[in-house]
Amino acid sequence: VVEISGLHKSFGSLQVLRGIDLTVERGDVVCIIGPSGSGKSTLLRCVNLLEQPDSGKVVVDGTELTDPDVNIDKARRRLGMVFQGFNLFNHLNVLDNLTIAQRKVLGRNRDEAERIARQNLEKVGLAGRERSLPSQLSGGQQQRAAIARALSMDPQVMLFDEPTSALDPELVGDVLGVMRTLAGEGMTMLVVTHEMQFAREVADTVLFMDGGVVVEQGPPAQVIGAPTQERTRTFLARVL
Ligand code: ATP
Ligand code: MG
Repeated sequence: VVEISGLHKSFGSLQVLRGIDLTVERGDVVCIIGPSGSGKSTLLRCVNLLEQPDSGKVVVDGTELTDPDVNIDKARRRLGMVFQGFNLFNHLNVLDNLTIAQRKVLGRNRDEAERIARQNLEKVGLAGRERSLPSQLSGGQQQRAAIARALSMDPQVMLFDEPTSALDPELVGDVLGVMRTLAGEGMTMLVVTHEMQFAREVADTVLFMDGGVVVEQGPPAQVIGAPTQERTRTFLARVL
C-alpha cells in the first residue's frame, strides 16, 4: 500500500533523511523506533507531504504523492494521522470534531457524518461522549477521539507519531489497546513509538532508524529480540 524509495530530506545543511526505502503491505503494522533526532517524525511527515522531500518517491495505493502533478489534498485523504499532541479543535465538542472534515472535505451530509462518527467513537470506547468538549476529557480520551476522527475519514493507512508519549502512564494502555484493535482489524499502520512491548506484540515489521537511515528492519523477534547491528543493541539497551 505504501512504497517509499530513496527518500531524502535536509533542513539547511542538516541531512535528516538519507535514503529511506520502505514498503508497507496492506494490513501490515510497521513500528519505527530510534533515538531522538533520528528522523522518525520527518519520515512520517514526508509520507503525507507535511514536509516536501528533497528527492525520492512516496507511493500510496498506486498514486505517487511526490508527483508534482498529483492533487495532494485528495491524495492525502488516504492517510490518517495521529500526533503526540491531541490536535482536537478545543472549541468544538467531540461529535463536531469528528464530523467537520467529513462534511467539508468528503462532502458527507450531517446524518451520515454523525452515523460514522458514532461508530468510530464506539470503537475507541467513547460512546456517550459526543457532547463533551476536549477539555472535559482525559488525555487518553482525547487521543482516542483523535484516532476516531482520523478513522472517520476512511483512511487506507494510519500514521501515528508517538501517540502515547504525552500521556500519563495510566492512560497509555487504553490508547495502545485501541491501536491493537485496529491492527487486529487489518488496518495498515505506520507507528513511531517508544513502546517496545507494543512493537514486539503488534508489529509485523520493526524499523530501527538512526542518523536518517534504516539501520535494521525485520520482524520484532529479530530487530528487538536478536538485533544484528551494534547501534540497534546500544539503543535497545537504553530503552528496554
Ligand atoms: P524524536 O524522537 O525526538 O521525536 P525524531 O526521530 O522524530 O526525534 P525528527 O523530528 O524527525 O526526529 O527530527 C530529526 C532532525 O531534524 C532533528 O535534528 C530536528 O531538529 C531536525 N528538524 C526536524 N524538523 C525540522 C524543521 N522543520 N526545521 C529544521 N530542522 C528540523
Ligand atoms: Mg519525533
